[in-house]
Amino acid sequence: MTKQSFSTDLVRWYAKHKRDLPWRHTKDPYKIWVSEIMLQQTTVSTVIPYYKRWVEVFPTIHDLAKAPLQAVLKQWQGLGYYNRVKNLHKAALVLIDEHKGVLPKDPQLIRSLPGFGPYTTGSVLSIAYDLPLTIIDANVRRVVMRLLALPGIADTKQDSKINEFLLKVLPTQGVGDFNQALMELGALVCRSKEPVCNACPVARYCLAYKEGKQEIIPQTKKKIIKEIQAVIAIIKKGDQYFIQKRPSKGLLADLWEFPGGKIKEGESKKKALIRELKEELAVQLKSSKHLFDVKHYYTEFRVSLSVFACSLDTVPKIDATHKWVNFKNFSKYPMPSGSAKIIDKLKIYLTNK
Ligand code: SF4
Repeated sequence: MTKQSFSTDLVRWYAKHKRDLPWRHTKDPYKIWVSEIMLQQTTVSTVIPYYKRWVEVFPTIHDLAKAPLQAVLKQWQGLGYYNRVKNLHKAALVLIDEHKGVLPKDPQLIRSLPGFGPYTTGSVLSIAYDLPLTIIDANVRRVVMRLLALPGIADTKQDSKINEFLLKVLPTQGVGDFNQALMELGALVCRSKEPVCNACPVARYCLAYKEGKQEIIPQTKKKIIKEIQAVIAIIKKGDQYFIQKRPSKGLLADLWEFPGGKIKEGESKKKALIRELKEELAVQLKSSKHLFDVKHYYTEFRVSLSVFACSLDTVPKIDATHKWVNFKNFSKYPMPSGSAKIIDKLKIYLTNK
């Protein structure tokens, strides 16, 4: 395979078959950066409406940097992996302070910004500035493992061999298109299940295809999904509901939710509710009524939330991280998807009561 023939065949295919995605209509490094961060761990169809809204609300790095974190989290609500957006916001502040609001072209400088690992650095700088940087995401890893018929599962241990290959075939110009073409090939043709080899522009270079191994490369590892059971307390005062802000560190940090938490092993739902309310709000549960259950799926685990209407011995204290909110104002508070689902179901429950 010559360097030129591989990249020419791939990029030609990309020019003809690439999906028309909103971030492909811009060369603005900031917008490309936003799209790349949103697309990590998230599907294209989920990202499109978020991206469109985001560039309207925060059209420049300056707009993002001057927005309060809560407003930024609100725009991200439902996309998950909230550290991504916190780093985006932190990096925007650094860019305003130290780089006049412009993403630098120097990979070393970019890598020092919050949230810029090798993938984001390579993708943003190659797509926005055409810098000769390789990128490896799950799609690229799978495609190259098949091209080279590499044994094993698709994990980062494969990356040195993959990078060696990419450096050999990387074109001297149009690197951003080349990188996007490889990812697009993985998304549309060289899919994890049932790759469409007879429509593949680089089939003639592919060892897995030649050896009939495209369905078994890479090897797959069975994913173990953890099940989590939790109880949620709906505490009502007039038309207002009690919500609290999660701590600033850890899972779903700084988002708002209803009180409650994980049921411990061997604990009943009622006991878990009593314990959680005591631990979180220093209040005693007087009575509770089960309303409904909500299931929510994360990448690594699924959670089943049992939602209870609760009455308490005392009214919980209010401060900056504990509030009474009515239905109209819930939308002002960034919440995890599980809590947003509870609100939707609560509305339906109350309407049909
Ligand atoms: Fe993937 Fe098949 Fe193309 Fe090889 S020939 S890169 S396995 S789609």
